[in-house]
Amino acid sequence: MSSDYDIIVIGGGHAGAEAAWAAARLGARTALVSLSIDTVGQMSCNPAIGGVGKGQMVREIDALGGLMGLAADATGIQFRMLNASKGPAVHGPRCQSDRHAYARFIQQALQGCPNLTLIEGEATGLVIEAGHVKGVTISDVGPGSSESEIQNLKSEIVIITAGTFLNGLMHLGEETWAGGRIHEPAARTLSDSLREAGLTLDRLKTGTCPRVDAATINHDRCIRQDGDDPPQPFSFLNDRIDQEQIPCSLTATNEDIHDVVRENFHRAPLFSGQIQSVGPRYCPSFEAKIDRFPDKTSHQVFLEPEGRETHWVYCNGISTSLPRDVQKFMVNHIPGLEKAVILQYGYAIEYDFAQPTQVTATLETKTTRGLYLAGQMLGTTGYEEAGALGLVAAVNAIRSLRDDEPFILRRDQAYVGVMIDDLVTKGVTEPYRMFTSRAEHRLSLRADNADRRLTPLGREIGLVDDDRWAAFSAKAGAAEKARTLMHEVRLDGKSIWDLLRRPDVKLEQLISPQCGAPASLTGGDGAMVANLRRLADEHPRAIRSLAIDAAYAGYLEKQARQVSQLQDLDAKTIPHDLDYHAVTQLRHEAREKLGLIRPANFGQALRVSGITPADVTVLAIHLAAKQGQ
Ligand SMILES: Cc1cc2nc3c(=O)[nH]c(=O)nc-3n(C[C@H](O)[C@H](O)[C@H](O)COP(=O)(O)OP(=O)(O)OC[C@H]3O[C@@H](n4cnc5c(N)ncnc54)[C@H](O)[C@@H]3O)c2cc1C
Repeated sequence: MSSDYDIIVIGGGHAGAEAAWAAARLGARTALVSLSIDTVGQMSCNPAIGGVGKGQMVREIDALGGLMGLAADATGIQFRMLNASKGPAVHGPRCQSDRHAYARFIQQALQGCPNLTLIEGEATGLVIEAGHVKGVTISDVGPGSSESEIQNLKSEIVIITAGTFLNGLMHLGEETWAGGRIHEPAARTLSDSLREAGLTLDRLKTGTCPRVDAATINHDRCIRQDGDDPPQPFSFLNDRIDQEQIPCSLTATNEDIHDVVRENFHRAPLFSGQIQSVGPRYCPSFEAKIDRFPDKTSHQVFLEPEGRETHWVYCNGISTSLPRDVQKFMVNHIPGLEKAVILQYGYAIEYDFAQPTQVTATLETKTTRGLYLAGQMLGTTGYEEAGALGLVAAVNAIRSLRDDEPFILRRDQAYVGVMIDDLVTKGVTEPYRMFTSRAEHRLSLRADNADRRLTPLGREIGLVDDDRWAAFSAKAGAAEKARTLMHEVRLDGKSIWDLLRRPDVKLEQLISPQCGAPASLTGGDGAMVANLRRLADEHPRAIRSLAIDAAYAGYLEKQARQVSQLQDLDAKTIPHDLDYHAVTQLRHEAREKLGLIRPANFGQALRVSGITPADVTVLAIHLAAKQGQ
């Protein structure tokens, strides 16, 4: 059977956009099917990209040749480095975005991408033959026509990134209706097809905040919040952000509001039994915060403009699905919002998702060859998580078509690797979002060094083009020279590299012509410092990142030793068809869990929730005995 496309991506959200972009740039004939072309790249919730843990992933997507960092830099209206006062391992780049410009940027990038066709329509079902995906059924309701046209698109690879749309059910107070996102329909039939493919689907929930009209806010009653000066870009292709930044405002809730919310708990879908599924613990709704932290008398609310040319302002911090009258009371009792007009009420949504233990680390389903899942429908929450999964799914899908080795990022290589390993070995009990605390190697998985960690890999897999590679190579060359200079230049008998370990010493002080230090240098060292200064001026991001390596050299060396021990475990593979029930020495729970997840190696087995080092030892002895037979 000849295919219409090498790969079909369903859904043009953040996962689908990265997947389609990656697949097409790898030379595959790609179709991106989405319910509406106008909503491709749309931010469903907060108009912001990045944050702690998430910002690292945006830099990783960028370092691999993805789209998100470029879109965020081009359309950001305010950039801030979160946790800037803490150690560099937890610095989280974030920007507020112009949400319309962001979606436009993504749409234009995809429309201009060779090998990529955008198709407006609903994927209603999958065509599967003998356990292998063969295509998709598309229903296309054209403008002005009530009849939907059904067409079959043939492809050996399908990536589904349907976000919150699978049987989406919206909640606003006592009102409920079917929908995938506000004013958008739900995808009603694709879930059945996924079930027929042997997947089990479950339900999760998420929610969003009310939006108000900017013209009705009294900013004098709020605290102004400016972005960083200078703003730091996400993409390693950009050295600076030129567009003007817009301030946002900070205000807070109070006890009057909390009391009214408490009085209306019985009308909250979250507590009344109307919402049955679990939401993201770390992005709780406002009513959940009031319930969980009864002693807190106030919660912060950030008033974030949704763009440069819109009146819409996103009230970050009060995600809610309480009835409209309660939301109106809440909003109008927040200082600065007394006269605010609500343009869109907060709401919640429940949707189908597939437990991620049903895919391998390539994101291919275990049930059906050629069928990949990515994004929110795989149990995550957030644009960044979705984008990263979309990219990895597409790269692996193309590699499987070409019989190349899978592309699996290790936990010590990338946050993306941590996320996928967590998802496929542990599954989720609530929407999974990234945090720095999830990464045991976070000192080396920093936002500043994502290009050093991943751009060479991106080049190897074919996603990093010549321009990005040339820019990276120039930076890497400069950093290498700077590293040598930092080791060679000595001040009072100590190299700059070693001096940087002292918390009170900064590279700028050591190499600045205004500072005292160079005066104590000998002539030859003075010339080297001038060289170092030139490199730092020409490649500020690369040299700053190197200075962080110097500051943490001791810890990084220790971490490298731990990584190599863990890599030994990851290198020891477990046969995919192992009959765990026959390993009678294993505890019953271990047999069940390992049989379900089917870890690819001992490292993964150890990370399956509920599996102990003792279980892994039993397994190792069993396999060694089997091999010896
Ligand atoms: C109400 C709400 C609140 C949220 N709150 C938060 C939050 O607090 N924090 C947070 O981090 N994230 C939040 N999110 C989640 C965030 O929006 C998602 O994580 C992110 O958008 C997921 O990206 P995605 O690509 O997986 O899916 P989406 O961005 O949802 O995109 C899915 C795409 O698939 C298309 N599609 C779906 N089904 C079909 C089909 N059958 N055929 C063709 N096209 C289809 C849709 O049109 C859409 O373009 C919220 C989302 C919603 C809706």
